[in-house]
Amino acid sequence: MNKNLPALTALMLAFALIITLFGNFLNQSVLSFADCERSVYLTFDDGPSDRVTPKILDVLKDEKVKATFFIVGEHAKTRKELLKREFEEGHTVAIHSYSHKYSNIYANSDSLLSDIAKCNDIICAATGQYSSLYRFPGGSFSLPSELVSAVTSAGYRYVDWNASFRDSELKNATADELAEAAVKTVSNKDNVVLLAHDATDKSATAEALRKVIKYFKGAGYSFKRF
Ligand SMILES: [Zn+2]
Repeated sequence: MNKNLPALTALMLAFALIITLFGNFLNQSVLSFADCERSVYLTFDDGPSDRVTPKILDVLKDEKVKATFFIVGEHAKTRKELLKREFEEGHTVAIHSYSHKYSNIYANSDSLLSDIAKCNDIICAATGQYSSLYRFPGGSFSLPSELVSAVTSAGYRYVDWNASFRDSELKNATADELAEAAVKTVSNKDNVVLLAHDATDKSATAEALRKVIKYFKGAGYSFKRF
């Protein structure tokens, strides 16, 4: 092994930390720069949901894997016990949206920031902690730069994804089809942020999860949470 590797790793980590501290977004390129091993971040958007969240949590517990949940406040306000369970079982509970209605939240920076704050109040009420981590509904990919910079200027980090179960596009897909889609979009990347959805109609996602976790374990990835 190269004897300079630990020093190089420390330098890379310090660099990544500085980038984050100075308000830039936490994105896949920063992550891949900091990591020397193959990593996968499992992320679940839009929950919690009565039917699917417990199934996802059961599989994660059984497989001893931690994940990140980007939650919707409107779904969580009457299901705080599910957020509490996510938090207590060692997962990250982060902000996705309060209403998830694009026309409202993306109307202007003020609407966006107030939607984020409202979602964060629900997270704090359930877990005792505010989150500083955010995922834009639909991703940041094609949003106006002023909306993205309003979020980072307010002190939030955000994260998109680079692989997906494709469980919002593939209607009525079986668990096997979703697992196959997930592995295909991973396409052997070293640092993977995998998108999945946690919603009442996504039972197949929860059923596909174990197979996808087995794939990553077999391929030598380590599981991380934000
Ligand atoms: Zn969403």
